[in-house]
Amino acid sequence: DRIKDHVRVRSKFYSLEFFPPRTAIGAVNLITRFERMGQGKPLFCDVTWHPAGDPSSDKPTSSITIAGTMLNYCGLETMLHVTCCELTKDEITAHLNRAKDLGIKNILALRGDPPVMEEEWKAPDNGFNYAVDLVRHIRQEFGNYFVICVAAYPSGHPDCLDYAEDLQHLKEKVDAGADFIITQLFFKAEVFNKFLNDCRAIGITVPIIPGVLPIQAYQSLRHIVKLSKLEVPQDIIDTIIPIKDNDEAVRNFGIHQATEMCRQLLNTGAVGIHFYTLNREMATIQILKNIGLWCEEPQRPLPWKITANHARCKEDV
Ligand code: FAD
Repeated sequence: DRIKDHVRVRSKFYSLEFFPPRTAIGAVNLITRFERMGQGKPLFCDVTWHPAGDPSSDKPTSSITIAGTMLNYCGLETMLHVTCCELTKDEITAHLNRAKDLGIKNILALRGDPPVMEEEWKAPDNGFNYAVDLVRHIRQEFGNYFVICVAAYPSGHPDCLDYAEDLQHLKEKVDAGADFIITQLFFKAEVFNKFLNDCRAIGITVPIIPGVLPIQAYQSLRHIVKLSKLEVPQDIIDTIIPIKDNDEAVRNFGIHQATEMCRQLLNTGAVGIHFYTLNREMATIQILKNIGLWCEEPQRPLPWKITANHARCKEDV
């Protein structure tokens, strides 16, 4: 019962990505959000990883803490992202052991971006140079304990000027033991479909899940495309610019745009959709409802609710 098997056979699933909150209140809000979003039955949820040296983000341990909470208190199948940024091999092994101790079985193995203030990627001393090295390390140290996912870039990774070479590097990660792939965000279904065909043509056979960002606000879109070095198609820019100061209008447009794109992706063979939620729920849930992937069935209560209800019943008696 592992997600690598589900992504192969279960058609039309979805997964949800979150980042570790920066404050205690943020953590409480996020955990209640896990509960609500878990009701729609995602196949899994994942937690991003942030380099320890980045003052604007959390320490990596909090990614593990949030992932452990997601799994053990919220009952959600969990995938933890791990990057090679600023970590030695031994430190990475220690983080993976901690994740294993918490019961986490799924890792998204990444190289990571250069540390803040540095332009170019440089492997840390006693660390790894590429994600493929991390995949090999995980397989060597942990055998098949972890399901391993890797990242891919339908428009090519910004560091690699040759698209065909970038695809070969993706194939190396799969050949090293990755079980499935999640893509960087993109804005047109054709971009993903071409990429999927190109991957299949060079012998990448594992499932490839398209990563979809529901556009939720103009500023956050600008921030994300700057970070990921992506270009927003002109028709989307032309629609958003006139409404850019009206968050609700931008979000409604984002819901419409992502709904249409997800429908096309699912109709043309995508096995499922991975959502970059940005830790928000409204747009993602609406899109999932629009495309028929949100599960409305009543769910079993979370562990702490069972306890609370038992306690209340006893008091009533
Ligand atoms: P790699 O696969 O190692 O590729 C990096 C570059 O090196 C590419 O240009 C590739 O073509 C090239 N390359 C690979 N192998 C070789 C080789 N043998 N020789 C020469 N060149 C090679 N970042 C975070 O910090 N935290 C996160 O949680 C996070 N989550 C992400 C989730 C997804 C789904 C995606 C798509 C990205 C995520 N990122 C995250 C961003 C990611 O860390 C960056 O895009 C990073 O620059 C590349 O990571 P990678 O694992 O794809 O690297």
